[in-house]
Amino acid sequence: MAKIIDGKIISAEIKEQLKKKVSAFTDKFNRKISLAVILVGENPASQVYVKNKIKAAEFVGIESLAFYLPEDSTQEQVNDLVLSLAKDEKVDGILVQLPLPKQINEDQVLNLIPAEKDVDGFLAENLGNLAMGNPSTVACTPFGVIQMLKHENIELCGKNAVVIGRSNIVGKPMAMLLLNENCTVTVCHSKTSNLKEICCNADILVAAIGKPLFVKEDMVKDGAVVIDVGINRTENGLVGDVDYKAVFDKVSYITPVPGGVGPMTIAMLMENTYNCALRRQNAL
Ligand code: NAD
Repeated sequence: MAKIIDGKIISAEIKEQLKKKVSAFTDKFNRKISLAVILVGENPASQVYVKNKIKAAEFVGIESLAFYLPEDSTQEQVNDLVLSLAKDEKVDGILVQLPLPKQINEDQVLNLIPAEKDVDGFLAENLGNLAMGNPSTVACTPFGVIQMLKHENIELCGKNAVVIGRSNIVGKPMAMLLLNENCTVTVCHSKTSNLKEICCNADILVAAIGKPLFVKEDMVKDGAVVIDVGINRTENGLVGDVDYKAVFDKVSYITPVPGGVGPMTIAMLMENTYNCALRRQNAL
């Protein structure tokens, strides 16, 4: 039977500690830490994410500046907003909630965020620093996964880690973080031919695919640590990429969906914002 890694509890601890650090920052530098959040359009999932991010910021004492732009906004309007926030001395972090409406080129928008305000860690400079083994701002979701593994004192050094998914925001930074922790890392993706065989060799298996209940019992090794990043909306509610019930008795640790990686992502966004503010004060 697996031990459940509870993202709600771990993220609550992180946010409690952060609350104290943010308060000390405000006292020391005589200013609030400020996070700009941009939501374009009315995607219901994005609205929920933004609401939760603003709530978390409020809890830890970070001021959030929310910008809601209409669905039919132009590239120029979104670019102009990001450019003005990039220049604004008061703003420590800029978060553009993805996905953006079809008419907007996401890369163009994201590339207007200065690397020091890139609280999502999506920019090439931040991903590159991670790849060089000298991380600056790390993408919130994989950063949160590493914190969960460390919280549980799970040995990483020398272990076989398999990441399913190679996106720039989850799979790739996840693989690099595990490599930095001295895991032997294999990255699988939609073109991987012997996926099951590779997964069965994983001491640590991270699923970031976006396919409901994709990882079955015959894809996990006995005693593996299974981290489920997936969030899939189905008629039975939110489910992960791992068939939780099917693998539960076989693995040693597992993250639930919901209540696993999701809350950690938000906590790490707050941590990243705090660290961006420290760097802007030359205090990190
Ligand atoms: P993505 O669509 O950009 O990437 C999915 C990856 O899965 C791709 O690299 C693709 O090659 C791989 N893949 C697809 N089908 C596959 C198959 N049959 N076999 C092996 N690999 C396959 O998605 P993403 O942005 O990386 O997100 C992945 C999942 O994680 C989604 O469910 C997303 O909602 C979720 N997510 C959760 C959080 C969180 O906070 N918990 C944050 C970000 C993303």
